[in-house]
Amino acid sequence: MIKRLLIANRGEIAVRILRACRELDIEVVIAHSRVDDLQRYLALADDTVCVSARSYLEGAPFVAAAQSRGCDAIHPGYGFLSENAEFADLVTSEGLVFVGPTAEQLRLLGDKSAARQRLFKTGVPVLPGTPFLADASEAANAAEEIGYPVLLKAAYGGGGRGIRIVRESRHMATEFEQAQAEARVGFGRDEMYLEKFLEAPRHIEVQLLGDGAGQVVHLGTRECSLQRRHQKVLEEAPAFGISHQQLDEVCNIAVTAASALNYRNAGTFEFLYEDGAFYFIEANGRIQVEHPVTEEVTGVDLVKAQLQIASAEHLPFSQNDVVIKGHAIECRLNAETLDVETGHVSPSPGDVKVFELPAGIGVRVDTHVRAGEAIPHQYDSLIAKIIFKGRDRTECMTRGRRALAELNIAGIATNLTLHQRIMTNEAFREGHVHTGFIEQLLIDWRRRRYSR
Ligand code: ADP
Ligand code: ADP
Ligand code: MG
Repeated sequence: MIKRLLIANRGEIAVRILRACRELDIEVVIAHSRVDDLQRYLALADDTVCVSARSYLEGAPFVAAAQSRGCDAIHPGYGFLSENAEFADLVTSEGLVFVGPTAEQLRLLGDKSAARQRLFKTGVPVLPGTPFLADASEAANAAEEIGYPVLLKAAYGGGGRGIRIVRESRHMATEFEQAQAEARVGFGRDEMYLEKFLEAPRHIEVQLLGDGAGQVVHLGTRECSLQRRHQKVLEEAPAFGISHQQLDEVCNIAVTAASALNYRNAGTFEFLYEDGAFYFIEANGRIQVEHPVTEEVTGVDLVKAQLQIASAEHLPFSQNDVVIKGHAIECRLNAETLDVETGHVSPSPGDVKVFELPAGIGVRVDTHVRAGEAIPHQYDSLIAKIIFKGRDRTECMTRGRRALAELNIAGIATNLTLHQRIMTNEAFREGHVHTGFIEQLLIDWRRRRYSR
């Protein structure tokens, strides 16, 4: 059993993990960078430790901190060290529990190209694509075979970065070089692969929990098509507008594949959906940003489940216990400025002067931010997740409009207006969502400005 846990992360997910620990009577130590020294959420922990590491990316100082503070486990949250197989190895070799998959599983899933090939063998449908490409000419040959447009993807990419569309063969050479250079800087590795590009698919994913001994349950689907530059902005659970039979099918495919890997931990299988068919794109071996929408419709605390699996190595419940009820939506509130004319988004760090949160029936806010606090420029711009739930999607959206209207933030710019526009958008209300939805919304927004 885990008794004292070190959180190797920051912000809202650090608070989220702390809350699950409190309910399980696990003591919490939050390790933080110098930049986060004055963050007020640190006061929630039993103890804190400032690791003088290069931000939250260097593993060894977190392991040393866990040992010096008497911890027996480390939770990596999402981003940062969460999918780092060497970190998982280091944590376990020092006799600590890593709250996540095995290092071997992280190694497989971390290479998106290898994961595609491996999971295809267990019956998971994938898009036409390639293994690693040696150079631009190999990429050009493969693209001819697949047919343009294609996507160049960094095998070790993530967070929506390291992805480039190539529409014509004459652009392949330059795009390949640039994508590779970007991947080198962003991920420290530059292996590239190709995938057929779909023009307007939906992003639908399956939430899983595995015990590491072959038992896997799914907690249904999420709709995550509302994205900007391949990054999720708003997510829903469950997916809608697709038959229950087909959604069950994709859930079962994911369960079968994860069971074959003896998958351990919470995990997500991501798919694109177009013209009635699902295509796997990647699997994430960690808790995801959008996990609360699944919690809201299943009643399952996913972080608690992660900790229970890591402690006891068995699932706290079975598939028959999972019942999906109602509909939930999450809005990612980011500290950012949107230039509607160009569609360009820039971070908006600074001091939060006023922060009044929505409340009432069916509303949940996951945040670490308090009024009077500074948002540092060094990290991700996510400052809060506004989550709401209704008996069905219509009630959920109505509640969402009410909740977003109650939210009051001053001192920094946020994407609140964008969320309000989405929540009142006709096409969104009717469920006509796809990965190009926000881009289209911005075009309409501009057009209305000119016609005024
Ligand atoms: P989710 O589906 O949980 O939203 P994302 O892909 O958006 O997953 O990633 C969650 C967080 O982790 C984001 O803050 C994102 O920037 C970060 N992240 C994920 N993968 C990487 C990576 N390979 N490199 C840098 N940041 C990453
Ligand atoms: P990351 O590891 O950065 O999360 P993903 O492979 O999950 O990268 O893709 C992120 C997003 O990019 C998807 O949700 C989708 O919007 C878009 N995308 C990825 N692959 C394709 C594809 N083959 N065709 C069209 N869009 C894609
Ligand atoms: Mg993804």
